[in-house]
Amino acid sequence: MTQGRSVNRGPGRILGVLGHPVAHSASPAMHNAAFAAQGMHALYGVFDVAPEQLPQAVAGIRALGLCGVNVTIPHKEAVMAYLDEVAPTARQVGAVNTIVNRGGRLIGYNTDGWGFLISLEERGVRVAGRKVVLLGAGGAARAIALHLAMAGVAGLTIINRSRARAEFLVADLARANQPVAAAVAEPGSEEAAAALAEARLVVNCTPLGMAPDVEQTPLDDLSMLPADAVVYDTIYRPLETRLLRTARQRGLLTINGLAMLVHQGACSWEYWFGRRGPVDVMRAAALAALEEAP
Ligand code: NAP
Repeated sequence: MTQGRSVNRGPGRILGVLGHPVAHSASPAMHNAAFAAQGMHALYGVFDVAPEQLPQAVAGIRALGLCGVNVTIPHKEAVMAYLDEVAPTARQVGAVNTIVNRGGRLIGYNTDGWGFLISLEERGVRVAGRKVVLLGAGGAARAIALHLAMAGVAGLTIINRSRARAEFLVADLARANQPVAAAVAEPGSEEAAAALAEARLVVNCTPLGMAPDVEQTPLDDLSMLPADAVVYDTIYRPLETRLLRTARQRGLLTINGLAMLVHQGACSWEYWFGRRGPVDVMRAAALAALEEAP
């Protein structure tokens, strides 16, 4: 017999992250801590979905009535084909990291670039008018480049191992609503050195330096950077990469990928719940999760 209040009503709204592998994601800790802090009847889980199971997993969001999900590697691009709608910015980025279930209609968004910009604002860094160097041209670089263009940076140079991928990004930026002066430079070239000498923001969007290969770095020498340059690494395992350590030792302002992780998650809340997630709670929980499983 059911007895009103004493009945366990289950977890209420269910959310989660779709990825593969995804067991070490800090997102469940981050979101569940935020739900608890706000007294919300919601649960955020981990869904390890092999690529061939992605269509069924997306159908499952509808069938099971999940409130929404985050999407991570390797599904961010492929998932777009199975959604009812993809927001224009996510379409331009070419990747979705947040899905909202609106009465069975699945809508895809991308909060990576938005979270990145907020993480700079939080540290008092205004990007408008700055010349920027991006290291890498993959999914994270695409989201960041588009949002930097929207924020009015003075110019973008993309330094990437594969030139074709960087050129593809530059061509997409030229077609964006707010085009920006963008160029490609080969790693180690004179063009790259010239761009770095003028860069007031350098962002690593490659996995170079990520655990366990912590001695790797996308840039050995930072001596040519201006004294007011900001060095941002999207990596959060470890929290201080070799790139950031070198930058700190040179006296430059450094920002790690934890800030982007937390803010992209807080921005997902805007789509799921109509308000930003509680950033301080989320940061503390994500940090604790990373310290537990570095
Ligand atoms: P991705 O789409 O696979 O792109 C990887 C990029 O790194 C490509 O430009 C690739 O160059 C380059 N790269 C990979 N291995 C390299 C190597 N050995 N030497 C030189 N370049 C190499 O990956 P992604 O999704 O953009 O992720 C990139 C990084 O961003 C990861 O470290 C990830 O942790 C981080 N990230 C952080 C957040 C956050 O919230 N903090 C969110 C998203 C991503 P090619 O084009 O030549 O292959």
